[in-house]
Amino acid sequence: MDDGNPVVRLLKRRIADEGPLDVATFMAVALAHPEHGYYVTRDPLGAAGDFTTAPEISQMFGELVGLWCADTWQALGRPDPFALIEFGPGRGTLMADALRALAGVPACRDAARIHLVETSPVLRDMQRRTLAGHHAAWHERLPDTGGMPALVIANEFLDALPVEQYVRTNGAWHARRVGLSADTGTLCFVTDPAPAALDAALAPHAHEGAILERAPAVEAAVADIARHIVDDGGEALFIDYGYTAHATGETLQAVRGHKPIDVLAAPGESDLTAHVNFAAVAEAAAAQGARCHGPVDQGVFLERLGIRARARALSAHASPAQRTDIETALARLIGPAEMGTLFKVLAVARPDAAPPAGFETTP
Ligand code: SAH
Repeated sequence: MDDGNPVVRLLKRRIADEGPLDVATFMAVALAHPEHGYYVTRDPLGAAGDFTTAPEISQMFGELVGLWCADTWQALGRPDPFALIEFGPGRGTLMADALRALAGVPACRDAARIHLVETSPVLRDMQRRTLAGHHAAWHERLPDTGGMPALVIANEFLDALPVEQYVRTNGAWHARRVGLSADTGTLCFVTDPAPAALDAALAPHAHEGAILERAPAVEAAVADIARHIVDDGGEALFIDYGYTAHATGETLQAVRGHKPIDVLAAPGESDLTAHVNFAAVAEAAAAQGARCHGPVDQGVFLERLGIRARARALSAHASPAQRTDIETALARLIGPAEMGTLFKVLAVARPDAAPPAGFETTP
């Protein structure tokens, strides 16, 4: 197919050498190849890019996350200093909006040591520009903070990590891989003929042809963060689209220019994501001794944090056109048909911590 696409060329070469690649490897190469990977070569966000995220829709999102941080910091006993760590910060918009909101709680803002975990050099540059005037450090993975408690934020980060896929065949799970079609030489999905070394009890009633996704990279990232929280204190907030109970079904998707396309059509030039299995996330955190709160729907979370009041306050000083924009953004962030219910929010805390803001159990 598209041999002008360097990622397709290098995938084909690897498949010719090694045989079909598992889906997680395909996804990792397409998104993160050090020279040609999707996130390495571009800023994918915004109207001119491939997709939009909550912080890019409205400043209200990052501001409320900032207030969540301030509130959680108070509940943690106002640690000074503490690490404020964001994973996958995109353009840096969420952090900039959060820090602006934190200006209202100067002791918290002054105690924060900002760390950004970002692999994309293009996005690191944008983050540097967006956060000019703030002192921040960049990392490839969870940094060693020398025992500081950490508040960790990750919006649409876990969905970008590679997933494995398995296909139910003759009553067993078989790895799904990316190979080359014998007829056309293009990338195609193939099923490993040998059963995978997966727990046979996983989704035992899945029908023939069902697809099961697993995300060891998600579980490993969450486990690292949960271990930090249990050992050194702090809390984490994961916001992403996903599902709350173990389930089968394919969620891996490709998006280009705000439209879904075939997953194999344009690796390296389309965003690849998978829905987050929040049950698996919670288990990975619990295995480290942490306690999870939620997941709650993003709409519920933002309403509890006061997004309607924030929208009213912004509208009070806005032009009619800006007021319409604020209303539209509010509907997109909390509306059930938009991001309000598809997106979930999960907090990871120490076992003895009270439920953080937004996770209070309703009486
Ligand atoms: N949180 C931002 C951006 C979401 S896009 C927002 O809401 O707008 C996903 C982000 O995760 C990008 O910044 C991407 O470069 C980053 N990313 C993807 N894989 C990563 C990895 N393995 N480690 C660190 N960052 C990663």
